[in-house]
Amino acid sequence: MLNSHSQPVVLRGTGVSAGLVVGKVVRSHKSMAKLPDFPIQPAQLEAERERLRTALNESRQQLENMQERLAAELSEQHAEIMTFHLMLLDDPTLLTNIDAILRTDLVCVEQATIRAIERFSQDISQKNNAMLRERAGDIRDVGARILRNLAFPAAKEAETAPIRDAEPHVLVAEDIPPSEAAHMDPRLIAAFITAGGSRTSHTAILARALGIPAIVAANGIDILEPGAIVALDGATGEIHVNPDRDTIAAFLQETDRQKAWLSSLLAENHQPAETLDGYQTCLVANVELPSEALTLRERYNVGIGLFRTEFLFLNSCKVLNEEEQFEAYKTTAEAVYPMSVIFRTLDIGGDKFLSLIDMQHELNPFMGMRAIRFSLHRPDLFRVQLRAMLRASAFGKVRIMFPLISTLDELIHALEHLEEVKQDLRRRCIPFNEKLEVGCMIEVPSAAILAERLVNHVDFFSIGTNDLVQYSLAVDRSNPDIAYLYQPPHPAILRLIRNVVTVACEHGKWVSLCGEMAAEPLYTPLVLGMGIHELSMSPVAIPPIRRLIRSINMYDAENLVAEALHCGSADEVEVLCRKLIAKACPEMLPHTKK
Ligand code: PEP
Ligand code: MG
Repeated sequence: MLNSHSQPVVLRGTGVSAGLVVGKVVRSHKSMAKLPDFPIQPAQLEAERERLRTALNESRQQLENMQERLAAELSEQHAEIMTFHLMLLDDPTLLTNIDAILRTDLVCVEQATIRAIERFSQDISQKNNAMLRERAGDIRDVGARILRNLAFPAAKEAETAPIRDAEPHVLVAEDIPPSEAAHMDPRLIAAFITAGGSRTSHTAILARALGIPAIVAANGIDILEPGAIVALDGATGEIHVNPDRDTIAAFLQETDRQKAWLSSLLAENHQPAETLDGYQTCLVANVELPSEALTLRERYNVGIGLFRTEFLFLNSCKVLNEEEQFEAYKTTAEAVYPMSVIFRTLDIGGDKFLSLIDMQHELNPFMGMRAIRFSLHRPDLFRVQLRAMLRASAFGKVRIMFPLISTLDELIHALEHLEEVKQDLRRRCIPFNEKLEVGCMIEVPSAAILAERLVNHVDFFSIGTNDLVQYSLAVDRSNPDIAYLYQPPHPAILRLIRNVVTVACEHGKWVSLCGEMAAEPLYTPLVLGMGIHELSMSPVAIPPIRRLIRSINMYDAENLVAEALHCGSADEVEVLCRKLIAKACPEMLPHTKK
């Protein structure tokens, strides 16, 4: 085992959520514990204030220690960052706001701090001054530190050690199921490393949604003892254990460079995703957490191409009733308006389980009672969800789609349920959008091959490459040992996608692609050249993909596809893609899959 006094070592894994973090290893899921959220009585105010004072003193002490260390080991310039954090800790506005929220909202100090920090950083993000806007991140960092100290106070150190510490926590685990990842709090967990997992596992997808840098399929994690310092790069998958001062300095420098790059990309948000020769495509977001939807329009200027509704259930640990679902869908539809949102009906099963819904143990869950199969098996739950979605359609631009359609019968049955729910709403004079568009996901080879049988029943197709690849190439999408066989640009996959797009276009329908393939810059020329109308991806992937599209010619992308369709392997296709990107937008090459 390595601890904080051992020699530097480098471990490697697959980077699945970008970001650089220097932090301390924790091995306990306790550190993912939810922050307290409870109402208080006026008589408890003083006790809450005292907790805040203690946490602030702790935070101050930690920052001063770090400042000293940075000045001694790195440079005065790095130590300066801590000066700003220390100033924030003493900022009278912040403290007055926390106290005002405590008094008026009568909530525990953790919640008062969260609200005050959120307001403070939002105020700053809206300023015209770019330097100030960049400070919004520092405010959240300081907020996270205060919250960590509130959650793991010094008095309990012995009990919770080594969870509580000045350094951000890097959770290390054999594997983390999506149901647990859904509860991770980025203010408590700065990054995670697992031995299992893959790029398209739902845990990795959630890490990107939560903005938590993550590395999966990491080798040798057994040597990571609680308390060891690691510097990890969630893009390259490199983990420096007990990094030396040069490595830490390089990390801090690279963090600054990436922040500046991201800022320049975000400034292009209002430009269309249009190729140099004038072909426009639509970029939209995949959303797992309802809270993400609230900031999407403002931050990325996009709507939602895939709302994975199962995470509403996984997050709240219960089966939501119609009213609860309606509220969540309505809030989302209103938040992204005038842009649209595609709600996907429940896709549980596979690697996503809800302990509250009784599901049989299956030998092969990805091939089993999953997604639309489960909804058709439990029409009581399915109809409640359809009702809630339809009712929300009166409040924004809502579309609905069904996951994992593998036969025409399934699609017809799902549509029959939808029609019956509509009839009932009409009878009761409950408003919904009569022109609501309905689509089906293409995730199973049979659906891709028989697209021409499905097309007349839907308004659009949405290609889910995460599953289409696993089912077409017989590769479990979450098994790291066979990840080398998981190849989205495999010519067989390209031919399936090509068929779906051709059929849709012949029938005047549109096609979206919402698997992770849409978020990988290396494949952007391919999906563009195949004529996909809409690309849906993790919000963080949108700015770089937009810039890449704006640097490419559709003419070149179409030629690339023509060649790729005749290649014999995914490797050959990737060579072609890399060549095109090297010529059109070389700055994107370091961000492509290795
Ligand atoms: C897909 O399969 O590509 C998809 C988007 O659905 P999920 O990842 O939720 O299975
Ligand atoms: Mg899928």
